[in-house]
Amino acid sequence: MQKIKVVKTTNPKKRPDPKKLGWGVNFTDHMFIMNYTEGEGWHDARVVPYGPLELDPATAVLHYGQEVFEGLKAYHSPDGRILLFRPNMNSARLNRSNVRMAMPEIPYELFLEAIKTLVKVDADWIPTEPETSLYIRPTIIATDPKLGVHPSHTYIFYIILSPVAAYYPQGLNPTKIYVEDSMVRAVPGGTGEAKTGGNYAASLKAQEKAEEKGYTQVLWLDAIEHKYIEEVGAMNVIFKIDGELVTTPLSGSILPGVTRDSVLHLVKDWGIKVSERRISIDEIVKAYDEGKLEEAFGVGTAAVISPIGELNYKGKVMIINDNKTSAFEQKLYDALTAIQWGKVKDPYGWSVEIK
Ligand SMILES: *Cc1c(COP(=O)(O)O)cnc(C)c1O
Repeated sequence: MQKIKVVKTTNPKKRPDPKKLGWGVNFTDHMFIMNYTEGEGWHDARVVPYGPLELDPATAVLHYGQEVFEGLKAYHSPDGRILLFRPNMNSARLNRSNVRMAMPEIPYELFLEAIKTLVKVDADWIPTEPETSLYIRPTIIATDPKLGVHPSHTYIFYIILSPVAAYYPQGLNPTKIYVEDSMVRAVPGGTGEAKTGGNYAASLKAQEKAEEKGYTQVLWLDAIEHKYIEEVGAMNVIFKIDGELVTTPLSGSILPGVTRDSVLHLVKDWGIKVSERRISIDEIVKAYDEGKLEEAFGVGTAAVISPIGELNYKGKVMIINDNKTSAFEQKLYDALTAIQWGKVKDPYGWSVEIK
């Protein structure tokens, strides 16, 4: 594997107030960057001072959105270790996204070494306040300076780091979610399964509409019948209906979340059954009317577990679990974050220590 060159900054930044980190607004002193050239493969892996990328205005990604990204976190454990959570899952998903977007894959060893090298250089940026972590954003962009519509022959893979607090300022408190019944996020055969910027671009108008109505995020329905639940903005979604946990199957148009997979593992180990099956919005409304919609929550790296306190579908407001965080949601959050932050022994071998 190629050696990663490290060039350290001579001009370190002023550190943000650890009590006011926000989410994804502060970035560390360094970034990882590596180039791809067809015929040569990935080359020139390096950690350099954080700074702007210089791109030709004709750069492919700026016109046709050939891009993929990932999101994971580094955690400071109480005994001073630095931990990653299931980075192999992010690597595998990045490569599936790459294949879908006609982009070159990156071997896991190189992906992991890049993250480890960068996080070690900026290790003193990992926050230690409760609920904080270092968000890691690996990104690949197409860089051919040409306007023809073709897969690019050159790419840049870069990683930036952002010390973050809880994703939602309201923490583990319930959010209000707007069920979008006309716009759609992803179609079968499209790119919904890939973590690519275009999916988010397609979601922004609905996000804006939801926010105007006082909602935090959108719940997407399927693109064909506008009937089956897909996922929430940047989270997969799980419901508890009449004692049964149900979640959308990995159908091809939703993002296969690492948090979703981890939660399903935990819950199964607790002896609780989870059904992965299609759930229609009508089933949700009916369950609500019959008093059987017990819980709903989103699961994703950013917020981990995000209880849904209110759903609005075509003007019908459904208040779930009295708009309170349930004991079960709290237990899931505590169990998963205890592993992520290295507060307990990890029974699954999910944590990867950066030494
Ligand atoms: C990243 C993402 C998720 C959550 O995936 P995690 O691996 O759990 O963070 C869910 N939905 C979408 C659309 C996403 O981009």
